[in-house]
Amino acid sequence: ERTEYQSLCKSKLLFLGEPSVGKTSVITRFMYNSFGCACQATVGIDFLSMYLEDQIVQLQLWDTAGQERFHSLIPSYIRDSTIAVVVYDITNISSFKETDKWVEYVAERGDDVVIMLVGNKIDLDNKRQVTAEEGEEKSRNLNVMFIETSAKTGYNVKKLFRRVVSALLSTR
Ligand code: GDP
Ligand code: MG
Repeated sequence: ERTEYQSLCKSKLLFLGEPSVGKTSVITRFMYNSFGCACQATVGIDFLSMYLEDQIVQLQLWDTAGQERFHSLIPSYIRDSTIAVVVYDITNISSFKETDKWVEYVAERGDDVVIMLVGNKIDLDNKRQVTAEEGEEKSRNLNVMFIETSAKTGYNVKKLFRRVVSALLSTR
């Protein structure tokens, strides 16, 4: 049976966070269902279509190289992004502290942007420096969504994308 899609929603999805937290790996896990391979996602070129209920959502993924490019490249990325995913590494407390800066920067451009805070690398639980409760608490304070993932095992990666896209659709 054929599904009739009622509408097409186009959106940019921007990944932010410190270097090495796993931004590229999360995208690569979602796009290619793989980890640590040569098929790394291509910055700003990858498009992906998701089908949620009767909607087609066409996402353009923007990966970033981290802090060093914060002042030069980010404003043009952010201008028309509608979803921002701010990633930290649960084994690296300073990457967690830096997320405030990224969230505030994105939130400044308006309240129509969907923001998700992501604690990645939860397969490394024995090296954890940031608890899930601390992540949760920060997300409440900043009024953004929160999830923990592992790009290595794939844990919660699909859920991350589903949740941000659902949130985007509910604001339309
Ligand atoms: P980016 O700089 O934020 O894009 O980070 P990368 O995706 O390049 O990942 C940085 C390093 O962390 C690489 O060595 C990855 O293999 C590793 N990495 C990324 N995600 C995970 C994860 O979920 N678990 C583990 N154990 N390592 C990860
Ligand atoms: Mg990267």
